[in-house]
Order: sequence, then structure tokens, then C-alpha cells
Amino acid sequence: MSRRKLIVGNWKMNVMNFDGIALARGIADKLKATGEVPLDLLVCPPYTLISSVVNELSSSPLSVGAQNCHTEEIGPHTGDISASMLKDAGCSHVIVGHSDRRSKHGETDAQILSKAKKANSSGLTTIICIGETESEHSLGNTLKVVKAQIYGSIPDSANEKNTVIAYEPVWAIGTGRTPTSEEVQKVHSFIRSEIASMIGKNTANNIRLLYGGSMNAKNSKELLSLRDVDGGLVGGASLKVHDFWSICESCI
Ligand code: PEP
Repeated sequence: MSRRKLIVGNWKMNVMNFDGIALARGIADKLKATGEVPLDLLVCPPYTLISSVVNELSSSPLSVGAQNCHTEEIGPHTGDISASMLKDAGCSHVIVGHSDRRSKHGETDAQILSKAKKANSSGLTTIICIGETESEHSLGNTLKVVKAQIYGSIPDSANEKNTVIAYEPVWAIGTGRTPTSEEVQKVHSFIRSEIASMIGKNTANNIRLLYGGSMNAKNSKELLSLRDVDGGLVGGASLKVHDFWSICESCI
């Protein structure tokens, strides 16, 4: 079994149109200059940039995803965007259950599950985020929390084509702190074994598990070399071509 690495840039609520196009172009140019690479690359701009970034990347293997979607397909949901609209705009992926959504918008596992199912039925691959908070971590509850999130927010129809799972310890996001490599590998191996129990060994062996939380050019090589780490979900370091590309290069 060989799982191809996936590096995802989550731009969050950053970057205006001009800079977003330049960022996407810069990464696409690096990719082109490097030639065939053994990894997949995805950028997730804010909604307002999706069309222009999709347009800019029309001849690049660099894919475009979104950062969230609604549970419903259509209807009176002012300010929301559906998964099929994202598909229509040219997205291949959507992030669901990011800790920003769980904590700042009160999203529950049940809502995330529902979003993931809708995204899959709209033809998108989901990147489902799970991870413990600082206090859950210090109480030693990481595996318990992660297990509840797996069973609560990952559809049992998940497979390696329609789902990617991102383990993001909340206390590591944007803080410059990361768990030790041993801790990351332990949690990833636990996630894989729970997916095996929930969905089956085959899916568990093939599904990609990303690590996210302060990944940067300095720590990426070690994190990405761990047995059960199949890529990274990168926030802050995805906003500069050089920083993002340095992370990508650690898989090449
Ligand atoms: C994220 O927001 O998903 C993330 C991992 O952010 P950062 O890389 O900045 O910690």
C-alpha cells in the first residue's frame, strides 16, 4: 500500500484577489519547474477568490478547495454556500469541521457529518478535521476526544477517494507549538485503527491522514516522514510561496 502525500494550504480569511492569484501562480510555477512530483497539492482560498484561483490554475495540477460548506443543497440560507455551488465553481475538495468552525461557530459533530455527506454526494472530497483542545490535551483525553469525533463526524461511507482526515490539535494551530513526533504518530496510528474498526481495514490502509498545526519548513520533513502521516494541512505557512513550497519540497 502506498499513500500519495497531500499538502493543503488553508488560506483562512486572508488574501485579497490580486495577492491570491499571485500566490496560486507562484506555487503553480514552482510545481511546473519541478516537474513530476510524488504528491498532490491543494489550495483552499476564501470563497471570494475561488473562481479567480480556479481560472488561474486551469492548466496546473494544483487543485482548489473551499474551507466550509452548508449542510443543505439549496434554499433560504443567507450568507451560506452549498457543496454543489463549490463543485460548480471548480472546487475538488472542501474542508469541514475545522476547529475555527467548531469553536467559533459552534459546529457539532452531527453538523460536520451532515456537511461531509452532502459534500460527498455533490462530488467533492472532504477534508474532515478532528483534534483536541489544550485542556483536553493536558487532561490526557486526546484519544478519547479524537475517537468521539471520528465516530461523530466521519461518514461510514468514507473511503480514500471521497475523504481525507486531518488531525489538528487545536492548541497547535497558529501557536508555533507542535506535539512531539511520537505523539503525532501515536494519534495517527490510533485514528487509522479506529477507521479500520468503523469502516474496514482496506479503507483504513488507504485513506490519507494529514497532520495540521504549526507545520513549517523547519518541522515538516520530520512530521511528514512519520509512518501514518500522509501530508499536511497548513495555515500560516501556506500564505507565502517560499514557505509553502519548502514544506512541499520535504516530500520530494
Ligand atoms: C490550520 O488552520 O488548519 C492550521 C494548521 O494553521 P497553522 O498552520 O497556522 O497552525
